[in-house]
Amino acid sequence: MRAVSAAFRERVVDLDAVSANVARLRELLGTRHAMAVVKADAYGHGAVESARAALAGGADWLGVAEIAEGLALREAGITAPVLAWLHDPDEDFAQAARANLDLGLSSLAQLEAAAAARANDRPVFVQLKVETGLSRNGIPESEWDAVFTRARELEAGGHIVVRGVFSHLSNASAEDDRAAVAVFEGALERAAAAGLTPELRHIAASAAALSLPEARFDLVRLGIAVYGLSPFGRDSAVELGLRPAMTLRGRVAAVRRVPAGKGVSYDYTYRTETESTLVLVPLGYAEGIPRHASNRGPVSIGGRTFRISGRVAMDQFVVDVGDLDVQVGDEVVLFGDPATGVPGADDWAEAADTINYEIVTRLGGRLKRSFTGGGR
Ligand SMILES: *Cc1c(COP(=O)(O)O)cnc(C)c1O
Repeated sequence: MRAVSAAFRERVVDLDAVSANVARLRELLGTRHAMAVVKADAYGHGAVESARAALAGGADWLGVAEIAEGLALREAGITAPVLAWLHDPDEDFAQAARANLDLGLSSLAQLEAAAAARANDRPVFVQLKVETGLSRNGIPESEWDAVFTRARELEAGGHIVVRGVFSHLSNASAEDDRAAVAVFEGALERAAAAGLTPELRHIAASAAALSLPEARFDLVRLGIAVYGLSPFGRDSAVELGLRPAMTLRGRVAAVRRVPAGKGVSYDYTYRTETESTLVLVPLGYAEGIPRHASNRGPVSIGGRTFRISGRVAMDQFVVDVGDLDVQVGDEVVLFGDPATGVPGADDWAEAADTINYEIVTRLGGRLKRSFTGGGR
């Protein structure tokens, strides 16, 4: 058996790549503030470790969806500003306020709940999310004046501080995003008319931050780009100077030589054309490998790239490597940094008819996670 350092099934996250990507984005975008979005376990990269690496690279805010995700950052000792913007209807805002999380609020009811959660000595920091076209959870235009007026009252009473006003874009087209930015500017005017003076105005995630300078305002919320993937796909990440942080790999669990015409995996959707070597890779849909990538997902073995042969199963899939000399225990790379000659998350996205975001974020199951860089 050849000695390789890969675990049976693991994702390796290069924290230096995360730091370098943030530094690169700060230089490209030039905004006063940059938020690293670390929701959903940092898109599968590990929330606490990625948050630390992003802060080391120059991010000065962290963004999460749920309060629980923000509390986990605090429990790990991270003291940087954190904004959480998607709440359970029965959410305990008091706990969030005690942990010094900023609350993204989308309704009058949430505003009242946040104000009521004030700890004795300190106002609750809130950021009001306005609907500008995405049809998700912002405050609708018809309620802007009521919410802004009430927010100003609560602020004057010392219950809250309106630190920000923000929104989120559809990325449907540059034209749609420009229209949403115009709606956002209208919301900012109405907030000012109500007496609010938010320090942070923000609307751009990675895509608009990179492609629509007028959407940058005071802060950009960077998710996918922090992890070295581009919202515009494969070639753009290279052009932008971003480096994919995650490598997904495993070790060959079994090797068998078979004759021509051998059916492979469930349903025999693949048959060998000639006598050939089949390699068993111990990653399956339980780990988040899309079954939809059956017969399509690319895999690097022994410095060459093959396609999965047959169905992805729950625990494993098979690759026909022809006459390549492969041994049990050899390393198999599903994706990593394409600059090193392996497939990228974008290749998997294409193979599974999805986006790079979903490929990295959906991973889990029995996968180990390890880290390189980050001062380790
Ligand atoms: C997920 C999310 C982001 C980050 O988006 P990317 O496209 O990954 O940069 C920013 N803002 C909000 C509100 C989000 O939900």
